[in-house]
Amino acid sequence: MVYETNSPEETFTFARQLGEQARPGTVYTLTGDLGVGKTVFAQGLARGLEIEEAINSPTFTIVQVYDEGRLPFYHFDVYRIGDIEEMDEIGYEDYFYGDGVCLIEWAELIKELLPKTRTEIAIEKDLQKGFDYRRITLHEVME
Ligand code: ADP
Ligand code: MG
Repeated sequence: MVYETNSPEETFTFARQLGEQARPGTVYTLTGDLGVGKTVFAQGLARGLEIEEAINSPTFTIVQVYDEGRLPFYHFDVYRIGDIEEMDEIGYEDYFYGDGVCLIEWAELIKELLPKTRTEIAIEKDLQKGFDYRRITLHEVME
């Protein structure tokens, strides 16, 4: 599925609608270059889960947990992971196979740990279509 947006608000709204429909145990991976809108997307998704708290990039922790919404929201950024064992140390399986919603940035770094059922989301720019244009691609994976 491909969705196109032309403003941060549109990306936020698209992600919010996804969050409103998300069911327990949903795992999303999120890919895209710096400044493409991953944090905007995460904020929209969180709003759709009825989380009022501000969502920041979890740059200094592998996972940021938001518990006060309709469902728990687990926001991962595994960019700084040194060793895959750090995922065991934080008990990642409780998050990936729990009753919350996971959003995983830099998921390609932990490929071997990803659940076989997940939705991969990619956000891309296309400058020929304008500075604020983004193409959001959703791909359901069932390995
Ligand atoms: P990332 O987390 O991927 O590094 P951010 O979400 O922090 O990126 O920043 C995205 C930037 O791009 C913001 O400044 C936002 O206003 C801008 N922007 C412009 N157009 C869009 C769009 N269509 N969707 C999302 N963000 C957009
Ligand atoms: Mg970000």
